[in-house]
Amino acid sequence: MEMKKHTTQIEHIATVLENETLAPGVVMLTLDTPLIATTAIPGQFVHVTCNQYLRRPLGIAGADPQAGTMQVGIQIKGEGTRDLASRRKGETLSVLGPLGSGFELDGVEALIAVAGGTGLFPLSFLLEYAKQRGMRIAAFC
Ligand SMILES: Cc1cc2nc3c(=O)[nH]c(=O)nc-3n(C[C@H](O)[C@H](O)[C@H](O)COP(=O)(O)OP(=O)(O)OC[C@H]3O[C@@H](n4cnc5c(N)ncnc54)[C@H](O)[C@@H]3O)c2cc1C
Repeated sequence: MEMKKHTTQIEHIATVLENETLAPGVVMLTLDTPLIATTAIPGQFVHVTCNQYLRRPLGIAGADPQAGTMQVGIQIKGEGTRDLASRRKGETLSVLGPLGSGFELDGVEALIAVAGGTGLFPLSFLLEYAKQRGMRIAAFC
């Protein structure tokens, strides 16, 4: 039987480089994750440790391969996201990823994207990725 090859799923110890408040209860963390920054594609997510027993899933909101950074947007819902949103510059987090298949964009020339709520975070990665590749874009939020 042929074994299906999985995409890279590695644990990274990521340093928080920036914690920016976007709105009350909503923050954007910039993390030092060189491997994720160079391999992630839009639509993928990461699993991040917090003060709760289980990791919390967060969509990848941006990746900068040159800087070796990724971004995750957090809307505070319960204790886990409250803890993650409170993390400050210099603190470290265990990040598992990139996870999920992401969007298949090879050969795509025009994109219509629709998102709401925390779906806006991965949308921002998708739009930046599409813009850099010269795709025509319409986004509905
Ligand atoms: C693939 C994926 C990607 C995601 N991406 C993002 C993202 O980019 N950004 C983002 O902000 N979120 C994202 N989420 C959602 C995020 O993971 C959840 O909001 C987070 O896991 C909640 O964890 P928490 O500990 O903060 O809340 P929890 O404590 O788990 O609570 C979640 C909700 O359940 C309610 N709740 C908890 N316990 C009870 C109870 N006993 N009775 C009734 N209600 C209860 C809480 O009030 C809260 O509204 C994503 C989720 C998935 C699956």
